[in-house]
Amino acid sequence: MTLLIFCYLLYQFVNISPGFPQGSPSSPPPGSLVGVYAQLSRAVERRDWSQALRLVDLLLQRSPDPAQRQELENYRLALESHRSADGDPPPPQWPLLHKPFVGEFPVTNLFDHDMPLGEKDGNGRFVSGQGQVWLPGPLHPCGKSDGHAGYDWAMPVGTPILATASGRVTLARQEPQFLCPSLGRPVRGLRVRIRHEPAGLETLYAHLSQIRVQEGQRVAAGDVIGLSGDSGCASGPHLHFEVRRLDQTNSGQPAPVDPYGWFGSDLDPWSLHPLGAESLWLWQVGQAPSLGVCWQAQQFSSHPQ
Ligand SMILES: [Zn+2]
Repeated sequence: MTLLIFCYLLYQFVNISPGFPQGSPSSPPPGSLVGVYAQLSRAVERRDWSQALRLVDLLLQRSPDPAQRQELENYRLALESHRSADGDPPPPQWPLLHKPFVGEFPVTNLFDHDMPLGEKDGNGRFVSGQGQVWLPGPLHPCGKSDGHAGYDWAMPVGTPILATASGRVTLARQEPQFLCPSLGRPVRGLRVRIRHEPAGLETLYAHLSQIRVQEGQRVAAGDVIGLSGDSGCASGPHLHFEVRRLDQTNSGQPAPVDPYGWFGSDLDPWSLHPLGAESLWLWQVGQAPSLGVCWQAQQFSSHPQ
């Protein structure tokens, strides 16, 4: 509740600043409801049905988007029926992100919940969002790079890359040169970062061939921010997409999170790490890019209890 009040106050503050879109205080943007969605996720995990239903009703009161309200009504019915059958309900959705591209592309690398810190990881383990553990490697279909902080989708060079939510472009340039271990040479890729307020999130789009936005520019969900490519530390054309939480992290510093959330039977190791943060499902209804065979592989061979 404290978070909700904080988000509301932040929204009020943002709204009086020049240059930001104006809105009615009675219809806060979806981002200000994130605290309620987080509480709802936890209530469903605890199977606290009365609390979950109360939170759904609260979201229904506060959601201005008719499509989202319809989705919440459906979710309320699902909760009711699962309560009577004592089954596992689907996780609640936290409506924020749109797809970063049109269509579907094969996912080639998932988020590593073990320690998504790239070069600083190196522990040789990969933990998927389903809690499945494997050894990462170049031939693994879903987890090639240890410590991967985002999702990779293989796609042709020149595919339009779209902003996943409204926000402000905080970075749109070539990254500083660094030695790419897999290529064995120095590289400088093109990347775009967008800050999404008041949700307290950032999204990153890397390996672009072209950038179509400028730093400081405001973008809406679905705006073309650049074209995909293979610039930087990439062995082939793909989009690297990453989400970072800016607040409510264990260290107080920004931390990468999995936009598909956590579905493992144990606790999420990254949510327990001193530098980590809790991952939640962040996709708007029908907007999550398919995880294809990687998702199915995880569904069929879940982490043993
Ligand atoms: Zn990547």
